[in-house]
Amino acid sequence: MKIVIIGGGIAGSSLYIQLKKKHHEVFVIDPRIRKIFMTLIHSLLLKDSDVIIAKKSLDFYIENKIPLKEFKSITIGKIDAKLIDLWSQVGVKIEKDKIDWLNTEGIVAEHGDRLVYVKRMIDSIPIVKEKAFISQKGNNVEVLVNNKKIDADIFILASGPWNNLLFNVISKSYYCWASLVITRNKILDNIFIYDYEKEFYSRPFLGIGLKTAIVGDGKTIEAKPGTKINVNPLEVITKAQERLGNLRHIYTSGEFCEGTPDMRPAYGRLLDNLFYIGGFNGYGAEIGPGIASLLVDMIENGYENKEYLLDRFRGIKNFELGREAHEL
Ligand SMILES: Cc1cc2nc3c(=O)[nH]c(=O)nc-3n(C[C@H](O)[C@H](O)[C@H](O)COP(=O)(O)OP(=O)(O)OC[C@H]3O[C@@H](n4cnc5c(N)ncnc54)[C@H](O)[C@@H]3O)c2cc1C
Repeated sequence: MKIVIIGGGIAGSSLYIQLKKKHHEVFVIDPRIRKIFMTLIHSLLLKDSDVIIAKKSLDFYIENKIPLKEFKSITIGKIDAKLIDLWSQVGVKIEKDKIDWLNTEGIVAEHGDRLVYVKRMIDSIPIVKEKAFISQKGNNVEVLVNNKKIDADIFILASGPWNNLLFNVISKSYYCWASLVITRNKILDNIFIYDYEKEFYSRPFLGIGLKTAIVGDGKTIEAKPGTKINVNPLEVITKAQERLGNLRHIYTSGEFCEGTPDMRPAYGRLLDNLFYIGGFNGYGAEIGPGIASLLVDMIENGYENKEYLLDRFRGIKNFELGREAHEL
């Protein structure tokens, strides 16, 4: 089949790799209007079926040699025993411990958390560097690039926060950001901390033992992609300092993410020749390639995983964005 993917972020590039392996003729259109971060967190410490989807993503990264760097993590706060069981089932080694340097109890996890070099994956796929415009014609979609009609058997809408500007899908765009800080504690560049009591996370910056870390939280600020958003990084840094000691703000950066009514990812068919993948909110590197594999299975075999199908939002006209889904 000739398949054209509209958007070459995590969704579009992981789809490209999987569809090419199935011998389809695949093209990706992307104007590269989004900032691409070098590394993102891949954690298996998610909720319910997302853990299985994240494991699929991890297997995809390993199979396709996308670089990964593993780190220990500490989770602070009340965590359901069932979740801990589920994490163990996908190979995470868990221990509850008193962590003296954080002055608290926490769940120490090994083999559960990694930085994944998503930019390497995104940069590795060929793109047509243009903006696509789409319009509905009966039960089909028509796609224009530079005013020229594009010919394909099927199209896949994979433009993240731009999806609902391009087509009528039930998702919203929001701004999400994190801050690079300097710390006295070198360990922070070698460990993940998910603190559900103080409501922040901390992740390594480069993961080579520098006195740096990246801190953020799971809040969402609804806004259209491209809008200028002013954030106050000191709110998160102050919360993080209560646990991690003195932190000095260096730099704050953000981008737009796409959220659905239940803040979980979705895929499905929009029109006879148009499919959708998105709603990755703040955890696209974690669940993205796994959701892409569900869409490939739908295109090839007609298989539907009802839990992630876009149809679950049928009848919903409007909604409020919730907290990000990787927040436990
Ligand atoms: C500050 C920050 C930190 C984050 N940290 C993490 C993390 O640690 N771990 C994690 O898993 N996730 C993280 N995320 C979330 C992650 O970045 C998203 O979930 C992911 O990028 C979504 O992937 P996507 O492919 O759906 O959309 P995007 O990555 O947004 O890609 C959409 C693509 O569509 C293209 N596009 C737009 N308009 C058009 C058009 N008209 N035609 C064709 N193409 C178009 C854009 O150029 C873009 O490349 C973070 C996000 C932010 C902002």
